[in-house]
Amino acid sequence: MTGIVVKSTGSWYVVRELGNGQLHRCRLRGKFKNKGLKVSNPLAVGDQVDFTVEEQTEGAGVIHHIEPRRNYIIRRSVHKSEHAHIVAANLDVAMLVVTLASPATSFGFIDRFLVTAEAYHIPVTLIFNKTDLYDEDLTDYQEQIAKMYLRIGYPSVRSSAQTGEGVADIDALLDGKVTLLSGHSGVGKSTLINALVPDLDLKTAEISQFSDKGVHTTTFAEMLEVRPGTYLIDTPGIKELGLVDVKPGELAHYFPEMRALLNQCRYHNCQHTHEPGCAVREAVDNGKIALPRYDSYVSMLQGDDNRR
Ligand code: GDP
Ligand code: ZN
Repeated sequence: MTGIVVKSTGSWYVVRELGNGQLHRCRLRGKFKNKGLKVSNPLAVGDQVDFTVEEQTEGAGVIHHIEPRRNYIIRRSVHKSEHAHIVAANLDVAMLVVTLASPATSFGFIDRFLVTAEAYHIPVTLIFNKTDLYDEDLTDYQEQIAKMYLRIGYPSVRSSAQTGEGVADIDALLDGKVTLLSGHSGVGKSTLINALVPDLDLKTAEISQFSDKGVHTTTFAEMLEVRPGTYLIDTPGIKELGLVDVKPGELAHYFPEMRALLNQCRYHNCQHTHEPGCAVREAVDNGKIALPRYDSYVSMLQGDDNRR
């Protein structure tokens, strides 16, 4: 049988069977190594697996094959002693929920997320939530920010879980895809998920019935079915995804508006901060690169990216 991992608690996995959507409690047989990846979990939400349910395992399935991943997103460990772990695999798109009102999301946070998604080749749509709280000035500002991100390849949606604005648009964007939904706490992510996923409580209860065996699972991702073929991956408890192995010299490659200019800098190892003949800084000076984006680049380069 073939299925998709919808929840993982470390040693047990909840797998949704392809075709009929039935959930199975499974474990992994044998050792699976993630080649070249220093991560602590062999399997993640979104992984496609082959499994069998044998009589002697009392209804529990045994996973014996993992399909190669199209992509994945990793969470950097907070403590150096811990390995990073794969949060989710095989994503079609990521949506980052942000808001300009209570609590306003910082550019630094948004841009770190975008860089991470670029590094993993995952397209991002921004969701500007809580629009019911925006006054005229904030609405104008939101339009400017949306334009700034659209120009460099990130479309956005305005939404309000309060008034229902944008919820249908988001639903249409999700259709037929696996979407990772991310966001700083307090931006309204849970409220949006409630509006997007019918019978959410029932569905999460059904999944935890297969996974909760006294294991604390709040920091694990979970794949929710919006409808057959359309899935949302929620990452409760995960504040921020981490970048793994991006060297300072490579950082600008993950800023789409800088990428095209990199071979025009005078020095091939230019870090775009103080070097003469820097095409990136010239583009900032003449307004072709937005200043907040450049500021995010510099602060990430300086390693300030652990701060808010
Ligand atoms: P999460 O931490 O991102 O999951 O945020 P929640 O969904 O728990 O929402 C945080 C707070 O913001 C709650 O008090 C919600 O009622 C409120 N909230 C969520 N969405 C909206 C919105 O669109 N407009 C307004 N005014 N409040 C919202
Ligand atoms: Zn440069």
